Amino acid sequence: MTHRLLIMGPQGSGKGTQAKLLADRYGIPAISTGDIFRANIAGDTELGRRAKTYIEAGELVPDEVTTSMVRDRVAEDDTTEGFLLDGYPRTRAQVDALEAILQDLGKPLDAVIALSVNRNVLVERIKRRAGIEGRSDDTPEALDRRLAIYAQETAPLLDFYREHDLVVDIDGSQTPQEVDAALVAALDAKLGADA
Ligand code: AMP
Repeated sequence: MTHRLLIMGPQGSGKGTQAKLLADRYGIPAISTGDIFRANIAGDTELGRRAKTYIEAGELVPDEVTTSMVRDRVAEDDTTEGFLLDGYPRTRAQVDALEAILQDLGKPLDAVIALSVNRNVLVERIKRRAGIEGRSDDTPEALDRRLAIYAQETAPLLDFYREHDLVVDIDGSQTPQEVDAALVAALDAKLGADA
């Protein structure tokens, strides 16, 4: 039983936290495009230098840059049992690119997790995170931009995955433990009880 998963949700929905819990449980890598970019910025690599200004403004990094990074990452050896993509795809072009990449690899998606949380809760959570982590894109301006891009460009992508009957809807406003329990139950139901 493979676990080839996507997790989608706005900034502050708890995506990153849940991605790590699921990855540990299923023994699959959590592939976060935001984390890969941040590591490259910290290491001052060429990729990091290309991505930095977009990220700090809360804008999306161009599709070609992001997609070639994901293409390389999902082809690595540790994805035999599956993977959990966090933060990709975010645009329609990325959805189409991912379909092509996974088709080439013969590794279609098994499920898409949609975490929903209302906007007031998101803004409160991110303000708290800004105080703790000091992320350069947790400023009020960049955050507004990121939430707007999510609502306009990324949330509608779920329709594509709904048409393919892949979506598992989860209420992300609960505690992390409650969300985790809800997710495992929902994935078990979708992928089979011994998943
Ligand atoms: P995240 O940690 O997922 O919120 O990502 C942080 C930032 O990295 C985003 O605001 C974008 O600037 C950039 N980024 C991450 N994933 C993508 C993606 N799939 N496409 C374009 N830009 C991305």
